[in-house]
Amino acid sequence: MVQTVVALGGNQGHVAQTFDRALSRMKQHEQVQSVETAALYRSAAMGACAGSEFLNSAWVLETTLEPIRLLDLLQEVENEFGRSRDVRWGPRTLDLDLIFYDHEVVSSPRLIVPHSHCWYRRFVLTPIEDLRPDWLHPELGLTIRDLCKRLSVGSFRLAIGGAGDLAPTLTGVVREFQNVELVYADSPDSIEVSDVSLAVWFGECSGEKLHPLWLKSPTRDALQALRDTLTAACTAVVAIPSP
Ligand code: AMP
Repeated sequence: MVQTVVALGGNQGHVAQTFDRALSRMKQHEQVQSVETAALYRSAAMGACAGSEFLNSAWVLETTLEPIRLLDLLQEVENEFGRSRDVRWGPRTLDLDLIFYDHEVVSSPRLIVPHSHCWYRRFVLTPIEDLRPDWLHPELGLTIRDLCKRLSVGSFRLAIGGAGDLAPTLTGVVREFQNVELVYADSPDSIEVSDVSLAVWFGECSGEKLHPLWLKSPTRDALQALRDTLTAACTAVVAIPSP
């Protein structure tokens, strides 16, 4: 039996009800033994076509399913609750992401665990912090609490590197967000990644390997990528009081 962490999101239909029904469905599976659920949160939608505000939560589940079989089950449940994949990052009834599988690292064409984008997304981390603040990210060596603290709203320091000619336009995107202090990095080692909330490197990085706390961003659609990243990393994720 292993402990795993799943992140939930949705912004279409009766999302809270969908989360409850998805939970009952997961519990029916004979290889899913125990489930703990985090509180409900609301967060800003990420992505140009994502629609209205999202609801988020998290589960810790104990299972004997292998990682890929657990992903199969999560996708089956997403499909049952009407998830369509027509628009990438589009509105959705239910999104279930496998964030951690024990403290294992999995890298296969269908599954990457820990989830590659979990470590800088407040809407993923905040519900998990409810349940397992001391859970250690096996690749970064930081706990969920540490990861949340880096992103704390009010004192958000963003480092940008490798932006070249894009830099002035990226600065414009950063200004769309409140309380973000911008630092430019000439090279990946010219700033200490542990001293900033988030470090984003654009394009190729010649020579040295980037520290895993540098987020590598594409130069194609760089503006939207940075907007999405900042939405995920520094906009508030608000707890919804339970009825
Ligand atoms: P999304 O539509 O954003 O939920 O992404 C789903 C796609 O990401 C599917 O094709 C999955 O095979 C793939 N994927 C890779 N790693 C994970 C993960 N840890 N959890 C969920 N989906 C994953």
